[in-house]
Amino acid sequence: MEAAEEIPQVTPKTRAQESLRTAPAPPEESGPVRLEPDLDFIRALRKHGVDDYKKCMQCGTCSATCDLSPDHEPFPRKELAWAVWGMRDRLLRDPDVWLCHQCNDCSTRCPRSVRPGNILAAVRQEGVLHYAFPRFLGRWVNQPEWLPLLLGIPIALLTLALVWKDPIESALGISRPAGDRILYNYSSVFPHWMLNAFFGFFSLLALVAILVGVVCFWRAMKVGVPPDRVANLGRGVVPSIFTTIKTVFTHDDFVQCTRASPRFLSHLCVFFGFLALTLVTLWVITARYNPLIQGEFIYPFAFLNPWKMLANVGGIALIAGLLLMIRDRFRDREDLGTGSYFDWALISKLLLVAITGFITEVLHYLRLEPHRHIAYFVHLAFVFAILMYLPYSKLAHLAYRATAMVFAEHTGRHVAAASSVANSGQARGEEEGDDVGRTTAAP
Ligand code: SF4
Ligand code: SF4
Repeated sequence: MEAAEEIPQVTPKTRAQESLRTAPAPPEESGPVRLEPDLDFIRALRKHGVDDYKKCMQCGTCSATCDLSPDHEPFPRKELAWAVWGMRDRLLRDPDVWLCHQCNDCSTRCPRSVRPGNILAAVRQEGVLHYAFPRFLGRWVNQPEWLPLLLGIPIALLTLALVWKDPIESALGISRPAGDRILYNYSSVFPHWMLNAFFGFFSLLALVAILVGVVCFWRAMKVGVPPDRVANLGRGVVPSIFTTIKTVFTHDDFVQCTRASPRFLSHLCVFFGFLALTLVTLWVITARYNPLIQGEFIYPFAFLNPWKMLANVGGIALIAGLLLMIRDRFRDREDLGTGSYFDWALISKLLLVAITGFITEVLHYLRLEPHRHIAYFVHLAFVFAILMYLPYSKLAHLAYRATAMVFAEHTGRHVAAASSVANSGQARGEEEGDDVGRTTAAP
């Protein structure tokens, strides 16, 4: 009974279907569109707390409002139509879903309070789950009931590593060379070789998982693109990657987006704070093999060491950015809600990594034993959780959004938009003597 109630009535001349015809149709679907609503997908969107999309009347205000939406095939209106019809596959291979930065300008202007920004966020979350490899980890990371197990796994694995380190050290004959110029102060409890092997192995697994997801996403996106468009309008993958890297580092999209510009600062702080901490970590773990490091190397660094200062500035920036994000969520909660478990899980984990890092640092400078080792253990467990669950958490956005941006460049999304608008503008200009604005590109 429930399923029957959820199936939308398909009538051939609805406005939603008109909108669907404007979407980039895959070659095999260039004829009449056969609608097969995916009820599981509709239920999944409801689970993410977004079932307002059914109120969408396809007015197009959201697409006209969005500063990032191109004039040709604008978003998010077409995505709303697809969501209404439960067109899961179409949504999950749509790069436009990932070009949205969830500024929610469209949500505040929607006359039906549909909150399209939140709906695209829910679709992105479904995308992360869909492309997750292995799939079950995606489900676990996104359901609160699995949280105790997910936090227990790094604690158990780290404990096992600590229990086995001495037998492995003896078996492999690992010992610190006499007169070693490199000193890791935590080595008595957490040997450097053990941490490198442990995190190296699990980072490799996470990398493979995210690469599998990204490759599947890329293949899925290609289905919707006419083959001649890439040849005529696209660019090479490598130049597209460089353009995307520049856009990500400069946060250009946030600057374009009027409502998101206040969020520019928080994202900038989180992004560069995280980057600084990653750089310092890489510097530390590669010290033994790094030709740039000559002479004595002691970790943890002294307080005034440039790398320690970079780590501290990065940690402060990360915490400040996360607190700003939390403030923004509560400030706009009436209009936009405070976010999903998906959002909060990442914010909390990043905060805990930064806070436990600072606690470890202070305890180390105070030389408090065994407190600093316990704090370091907790810190490492959260770092593991961030790394290992990256392909399934909101941090996977880094990979999927960047992939969608590269794809948009590679397939000439903007060039196609410009030429299409120019052509239609010329045609309309001849007919009406008028310019073609953003809204005229929408059906
Ligand atoms: S503004 Fe609201 S009602 Fe209009 S198309 Fe967008 S989501 Fe639908
Ligand atoms: S949330 Fe912002 S970026 Fe996303 S579709 Fe709406 S207006 Fe555009």
